[in-house]
Amino acid sequence: MPRIARIRAHVLEAPLSEPFAWSFTETSTRGSCVVEVTTEDGLSGWGECIGPARLNAALIPAYARMLVGQDALAVDRHWLAMYNGLRDQGMKGLALTALSGVDVALWDLRGRHWGEPVWRLMGGRFRDRVAAYATGTYRRGDGWRTLEARRTEARFGGGDPDALTLETLQYLVDEVTGYAAEGFRAAKLKIGFGVDQDIALIRAVREALGPRIGLMLDANHGYDAIDAIRLGRAVADQDIGWFEEPVVPDDLDSYVEVRRGQPIPVAGGETEFTRWGFREVLTRRAMDIVQPDICACGGLSEAKKIADMATAFGVRLVPHVWGTGIGLAAALQLHAVLPPSPPRHDPTEPVLEFDRSEHPFRQAVLAAPLEHQHGVVHIPDGPGLGVEIDVEAIARWRVELVG
Ligand code: CA
Repeated sequence: MPRIARIRAHVLEAPLSEPFAWSFTETSTRGSCVVEVTTEDGLSGWGECIGPARLNAALIPAYARMLVGQDALAVDRHWLAMYNGLRDQGMKGLALTALSGVDVALWDLRGRHWGEPVWRLMGGRFRDRVAAYATGTYRRGDGWRTLEARRTEARFGGGDPDALTLETLQYLVDEVTGYAAEGFRAAKLKIGFGVDQDIALIRAVREALGPRIGLMLDANHGYDAIDAIRLGRAVADQDIGWFEEPVVPDDLDSYVEVRRGQPIPVAGGETEFTRWGFREVLTRRAMDIVQPDICACGGLSEAKKIADMATAFGVRLVPHVWGTGIGLAAALQLHAVLPPSPPRHDPTEPVLEFDRSEHPFRQAVLAAPLEHQHGVVHIPDGPGLGVEIDVEAIARWRVELVG
C-alpha cells in the first residue's frame, strides 16, 4: 500500500508583459498554487488550485496533517476527511479550491500507481479528442481606461458615451477573428463593461466573424438582472452560444430571472462548489449550462459527481478551465468521461475552454505542452493526468514553497 509521505504547495507567480482586465478587476500577474503529493516510495502526483495562490497554499498544511501516513489510493476517504474537517467554516471558497488541488494530485498519483490514465480509472472514455474554444478578449493596455474615462466625461457632459466604443475596442474584434484564423471554431467574448458598449462590441465581433464561428459571452458577473436581460434581448439575433456569469454567483434568484427574461442560454458555476452547491443550481434550474472548475469545485472526484447530477437534471456541462497545463490536463481527463447526454448518432459534444490570454508558465510547467491543432486538443493517454511535470520549471516560477 503506497502511503502519503508529504503534501507540498508550490506557489508560482509571474508578471505579465501588460496588465489585463475583466468586468470587475484587473491583474498584472498570473499565479497558481500547484499541489504535490508524494508517497513513501517516491512517487509524486500533481494538482492545482484556482484562485489566490498564497491563500490556497496556506491551507494545504491543514489537509496534509489529515492525510500523511494514510493509504494514497483511498481518494474518496481523503476527500470526505478534508471536506468534513473544514466543513463548518469551509463549505465554499478557499477551503474547496485548496481541497481540489489535493484531490487532483491524489487522482494523478492513483493513475501513476496503476499505470493508467484517470479516464480509465473513472470508467473509460467516450472520446479521445475535444474541440476547444478560445477564451481571451480581456481589456488590455490603457485604451480601455481611456474609453471608460471618456465615457464618464461624455455622460456628465451631455455627449454620447457609446459613440466612442468601437474605435477604442477594435483590437478585441481583431483578437477574435485571429482565433478563427488559427482554427478555433468558437470563441468567448468578455463583456460586463456597460450594456450599450457591450452590445456594440458584440455586433461588431459577430459581423467580423461571419455566421459560421461560435460566439459566447462572459460578463464575469458585471450585471444585475435588469441589465443582463436588456443585453440578452438586444443581441438575441447574433447567434450567441451562451451568456456566462450574467449576474453575481451568490444570487441564484437573479440567474433564474435572467433565464426567464431573455432567450440566450445562461451558463455559470465556475465559482460554485461541491455536489451540494450544484444541487441548488440544478434543482432551481438557475442555469442552462453548468461550468464547474475541477480545480475549485472539489477536484476530479467532485466534478465527476456534479457531471452525473447534471445528466440527471438534463443540464449541459462545460468545465471551466483557467489555470496551468496541470489544470488543463485534469479538465481533459474529465472531458474524456463526460457521457453524451442524450446519446445519439452524432451527439452534442462538450467543448474545452482554452485560455489564450497571457500566462508565462501555463505550458512551461509541462514537459510537453498541451496544444491545439486547428482548434482540437487530444486527450493524453499517459498514466494519471497524462502529462509529465517539468520540476525545474516549477522551481523557476516558484515564489514560495509550503510544506
Ligand atoms: Ca468565466
